[in-house]
Amino acid sequence: MHEVSICQAVIESLYRELFRRSIPARSVTRVVLAVGALRQVVPDFMQEAFRTLTRDTELDHCELELKIVPVSLECSHCRCTFPCVRPTFRCPGCGSEQIIIHGGDRITLESFSVENGQPGGEDARRDA
Ligand SMILES: [Zn+2]
Repeated sequence: MHEVSICQAVIESLYRELFRRSIPARSVTRVVLAVGALRQVVPDFMQEAFRTLTRDTELDHCELELKIVPVSLECSHCRCTFPCVRPTFRCPGCGSEQIIIHGGDRITLESFSVENGQPGGEDARRDA
């Protein structure tokens, strides 16, 4: 269950970000995580891992929101870009199978919300 180690990394980077901005962890109410579809994360396992890892910590009332980021494909032959809808990666434009994959393999701490309404903005983005 790789969700636990992913969650651990996410919580660590969240703490680093909070420390850098002098925000108390207890004030964080929501964490938004962008998960690349290729990472094959099971959302239920992810929620369960987050609950378990934050129980009885300063983050125990913090909610986790998962946003699945779709895989985007590009044909290296004609540069056509298209969404990943089939398990075989073939360009719908020219039929080539020489495909470059863009996105879908990263997990990013996208944002977090704190009680006083001060959101964790763009510079909260950090690969976990
Ligand atoms: Zn093509």
